[in-house]
Amino acid sequence: MQKIAILGAGTMGHGIAHVSALAGYDVGLFDIAEAAVERGLSMVQANMKKGVDRGKLDADAMEAALPRISGGTDLAAICEGADLVIEAVPERLELKQKLFLEVQGMTDGILGTNTSSLSIANIAAPLDDPGRVIGLHFFNPVHIMKLLEIIVYEGTREDVLSSCQAFGERIGKSCITVKDFPGFATSRLGVCLGMEAIRMVEQGVASPEDIDTAMVLGYRHPIGPLKLTDLVGLDVRMHIGEYLAVELDNPAFKPPALMREMVEAGKLGKKVGQGFYSWD
Ligand code: NAD
Repeated sequence: MQKIAILGAGTMGHGIAHVSALAGYDVGLFDIAEAAVERGLSMVQANMKKGVDRGKLDADAMEAALPRISGGTDLAAICEGADLVIEAVPERLELKQKLFLEVQGMTDGILGTNTSSLSIANIAAPLDDPGRVIGLHFFNPVHIMKLLEIIVYEGTREDVLSSCQAFGERIGKSCITVKDFPGFATSRLGVCLGMEAIRMVEQGVASPEDIDTAMVLGYRHPIGPLKLTDLVGLDVRMHIGEYLAVELDNPAFKPPALMREMVEAGKLGKKVGQGFYSWD
């Protein structure tokens, strides 16, 4: 693999571009709006610079990586010659299916989806060659989190899996391989805990800070479930919760009223500066 195309330059897309360029891949970053592409590219630059300032990234590595990323709104140009396409567009099945249907004729490469919960089999189903689809579930912030959850459905080809495992290793991630089952290994546990924590805030059991402290100091979680919900985005988590409540037939995943109210009020978490916490 040499060229990676990333579709969606938001929270996850720009992070995937960051780690791929640092690993030496040529990266194309696509979004529907020029402003989103620009924002994504400047986030990569800012995060790499922060890494250099903190002594975590070599300045030469940054200088070599940044020119490897090009951005744009021309899907065919970004996907042409891509060995691997990774979509990181909003968590809606029809949107991901439609995008892959458009992309399938633009490249013969592997089609990876960064879905947090949707069925990989369903995303692959409408394609001419569904065997080239695989789940590549990254974690936020992508340039810091070590895990890559690789999700295979019964149709994913063996060579597609092994190429993606090699890609994961080259970008410095620890890979786990999981069956295509709603919520995979990560979202199923993480979202369940997050929803219960929100219900506890709703019931006045404790403040968001104290609930998070309970998990951090009492259970050794590196971050509390409410702060994590802020990082992921309340809207993103709400959609996952709605989907899992139906797919797993389990009301524990149903987004609480407080979450819906916060999403409606635009309190989406860190990306907008306000969620359960205020962010700079
Ligand atoms: P985001 O809202 O930050 O970014 C999505 C981007 O996709 C936006 O820039 C938007 O303009 C763009 N977009 C919308 N329609 C498009 C289209 N048709 N073609 C190309 N770009 C399009 O969302 P995100 O948080 O980066 O999430 C993206 C995906 O990654 C979702 O499937 C989500 O479930 C998954 N995910 C998110 C997290 C997280 O912590 N946020 C973690 C793991 C996986």
